[in-house]
Amino acid sequence: METSPLARRLAARFVAGDTFADGLEAGRRMNREGIAVTFDRLGESVTSLAEAEASRDEYLRVLQEISDHHLNANVSIKLTQFGMDISEQACRANVEQLVRGAKERNSFVRIDMESSEYTERTLRMVSDLHAQYGTVGTVIQAYLRRSEKDIEALCRQGIGVRLCKGAYLEPADVAFHSKSEVDRNFVHLMRILLAAGTYPAIATHDEKIILDAKNFVAARNLARDSFEFQMLYGIRRDLQRRLVAEGYRLRLYVPFGKAWYPYFMRRLAERPANVVFLARNLLRG
Ligand SMILES: Cc1cc2nc3c(=O)[nH]c(=O)nc-3n(C[C@H](O)[C@H](O)[C@H](O)COP(=O)(O)OP(=O)(O)OC[C@H]3O[C@@H](n4cnc5c(N)ncnc54)[C@H](O)[C@@H]3O)c2cc1C
Repeated sequence: METSPLARRLAARFVAGDTFADGLEAGRRMNREGIAVTFDRLGESVTSLAEAEASRDEYLRVLQEISDHHLNANVSIKLTQFGMDISEQACRANVEQLVRGAKERNSFVRIDMESSEYTERTLRMVSDLHAQYGTVGTVIQAYLRRSEKDIEALCRQGIGVRLCKGAYLEPADVAFHSKSEVDRNFVHLMRILLAAGTYPAIATHDEKIILDAKNFVAARNLARDSFEFQMLYGIRRDLQRRLVAEGYRLRLYVPFGKAWYPYFMRRLAERPANVVFLARNLLRG
């Protein structure tokens, strides 16, 4: 799959390009349309500290470029890209450097949430760094059974949360498996976050949930700039444009880089139609 030109072509739908110059170009385009962005330099689960440091340095360059080009943008990172599988201490030092860099440039670092084996460690690091610098937030996955407790703790600390459904394969004792349970929990958690007023990010392309958010905000008289919707690059452009036209804040998650494979596999897994499309074309080719 990784060497298939067709898979690469299909992956290009979800990835801005191989280099940050491609990401920057996409970011500029989005900003012109009134859409903020968060950049994701692809690459996760690094196996050496040298790679982790290279990720950190590349992200520091991204923060500098965002500032130089006055983009409405911030960055999203994964802890396994910053060395978490090798040394929690080294990972923390790398992340701290980036969060400090974000503070110096008036920007923000979002720490994506990976599989549940990292949840506790991620929350611990975010909590510490937030207390020290403020310019960091994280992600909570609605499919995890523990998420309500985590959201309550994060809200108490005033930490900004991006709420998403969750993209990893998890055992049933840890995560809800049925779509209806995940969706129900998403709406429940979303309402807690919106009411808490800690500038949450509602990250979904699910129209029913987006409508629920709009109705909740209107019924409570909450300001439209007290939260943002977030979506992934290449998914539901129609819905993205509509939200912006309606006056809602929207931020797009813009991945760039050569390590597209795991990201692409998660996008395939979310949507059986993508797999069918790919399989049909691979067989044809
Ligand atoms: C900004 C952002 C950041 C995220 N960060 C994280 C993270 O840190 N950790 C994590 O575990 N997950 C993350 N995710 C992924 C998330 O967990 C879901 O897997 C993903 O958003 C799909 O779920 P959905 O809410 O769109 O709902 P779904 O019910 O999966 O989809 C709703 C509709 O959206 C469209 N759609 C959704 N996915 C696709 C796709 N791949 N291809 C084409 N159409 C699609 C379809 O029209 C579908 O009917 C993030 C998502 C977003 C938007």
